[in-house]
Amino acid sequence: MTDPLPSGTASAVLARLRELQAGDLPVLGGRTLAYVYDSGLAEVDRVGREAVAAYAGSNGLDPTAFPSLLRMENDLVGFATRLLDAPEGAVGTVTSGGTESVLLAVQGARDSRPDVARPTMVIPSTAHAAFHKAAHYFGVEARVVPVGPDFRADPEAMAAAIDDTTVLVAASAPSYAHGVVDPVAEVAAAAAARGVRCHVDACIGGWVLPYAARLGRTVPAWTFAVPGVTSVSVDLHKYAYAPKGASLLLHRTPALRRPQFFASAAWPGYTMLNPTMQSTRSGGPLAGAWAVVTTLGDEGYERLTADVLAAVDRIVAGVADHPGLHLVAEPDSTLVALGTDASCDPFTVCDEMAARGWYVQPQMSFAGAPATIHLSVSAATLAGVEDLLVALRDSVAAAVAAGPVRVDPGVAAYVEALDPAGLDEADFDGLLAASGLAGQGADGTVALPERMAEVNALLDLASPAMREALLVAFLDRLARP
Ligand SMILES: *Cc1c(COP(=O)(O)O)cnc(C)c1O
Repeated sequence: MTDPLPSGTASAVLARLRELQAGDLPVLGGRTLAYVYDSGLAEVDRVGREAVAAYAGSNGLDPTAFPSLLRMENDLVGFATRLLDAPEGAVGTVTSGGTESVLLAVQGARDSRPDVARPTMVIPSTAHAAFHKAAHYFGVEARVVPVGPDFRADPEAMAAAIDDTTVLVAASAPSYAHGVVDPVAEVAAAAAARGVRCHVDACIGGWVLPYAARLGRTVPAWTFAVPGVTSVSVDLHKYAYAPKGASLLLHRTPALRRPQFFASAAWPGYTMLNPTMQSTRSGGPLAGAWAVVTTLGDEGYERLTADVLAAVDRIVAGVADHPGLHLVAEPDSTLVALGTDASCDPFTVCDEMAARGWYVQPQMSFAGAPATIHLSVSAATLAGVEDLLVALRDSVAAAVAAGPVRVDPGVAAYVEALDPAGLDEADFDGLLAASGLAGQGADGTVALPERMAEVNALLDLASPAMREALLVAFLDRLARP
C-alpha cells in the first residue's frame, strides 16, 4: 500500500499534480515520437484544453439534453466527410479513440450478418492490434493474411481468404508499424465482389493523407472515393492534433451504421440509447476536438501537413547517410520505421535516444522480420529535426560501443521454452524479477527498470503468446494501489 492520499487546498493539489506529471514523457515539443502529437502551435493547444475543461462535466448520453454536443459531433462528421470524399448521405460517430472506432466497425459488421453463425474477418498481418481486440471481444475470428515484401496488404491473398463467413475485410492507410498505405482499391474491390463490408483503418493517416494529396504528393486512392469502402476510422487525437479521447468512425450510408446503435428499454430506468461502447460520454474530448478543428481548418492542417512531411523528408534523407540505420519502408505519410544493421541493437538505440531527450518506440521482431524503431513524427518535430538526426547518429554510435544486449542465457532459455498457459502466479513473479521487468523496490512496490534494452531483448526472444502473458502479469503487478 502507498501512503493515503493527502487532502489539501486546490492550489496544493494542482502543484502536486504538476510534480507527478514531471515524471511523464513531455506531450509538447515534438520530441516524443509515439503516443502524442504536437502541432507546435501554443494557441491550438490552449484552445483544445480550454474546450475540454469547459465541457468536462457535459454528458453526450442524451443529445436532447446537451444539444451543443450533437451539434459539434455533426460538425466534425461533416468536416471529415468532405475530407474523406464521402458521398452525400454518409454518416459518422465520434468515439473515444481509434480502438473504439475499430471495435465498432467490427461489431457493426458482425451484427449486420446475423445469418452467419461463426463470423470471420480478413485482415492483413500488419493491421492494428485493435482488430485482434475486436476479434476477442466480439467472437469474430480474424483471418490474418501475410503482407507482401513491401509490407503492404496482398490483395489477391486477401481475396482468396474471403468466404461465406466473412463479415468484414480491412486495410490500413497507413499501417502503424511500417507507415505504408495498403492497396485499398484492390482490397475493397475484392470485398465488394463478395458483398462484404470493407473498413479502412486510417486512424493515424486519415487527417494527413488528404492534405498531403492537396500539397501535390502522390497518395494512392484510399478514401470513400474508392468503390467498395464502406467505413473509415480516423483519429482526431492523432493528426488532427486534438486533445486525447476523440476519433471518428464514418459509414458510407446510414444503413451501414445502424447495427452499431444500441438501445435497451429492458429495465425500469431511462431507455438507454447509445451509438458507441460508452453510455455516459464526456463532452470534453468532443468539444476539444471541435475547437481544435475549427481553429485550424483546412488551411491550418495544410500548413501542419507541409511541416510534418518536411520533417519526415529530412529524416529520410538524414538516415540515408547514417551508418548503422536504414528505412524499413519508404514512408507514405508521417510514420518512420527504422532498422539497424548488425553493428548495433535497436533497443539500445531507443534507450540512448531517451537519454538524449527523445522518445522513439521499440517494435519487437515479428513474423520473421527483425525488431525496428518507430517514429510518429509531429509538425512540432520539424523545428528540432536537425537535433533529432544528431541524436540518432550519437545514439547509434553509443549502441555500437555498448555492443550486443546481454540476456541471461538461463532466463532466455526458460522464457523461450515455456508455454505461458502452464505458468502460475509464482512462476510469473520469478520471471518478472529475473527478466528485470518488475523487481521489488526498496519500499516493497514494483520497481520499473531504468533501461529497457535488456528487458526488450528478452521479450523479443519470447513467443508472442509468452510476450503477452509476461506483460499482462507485469501490468497486474503495476496496477495495485
Ligand atoms: C493508433 C491506431 C489505432 C488505435 O487507436 P487508439 O486511439 O490508440 O485507440 C488503430 N489503428 C491505427 C492504424 C492506429 O495507428
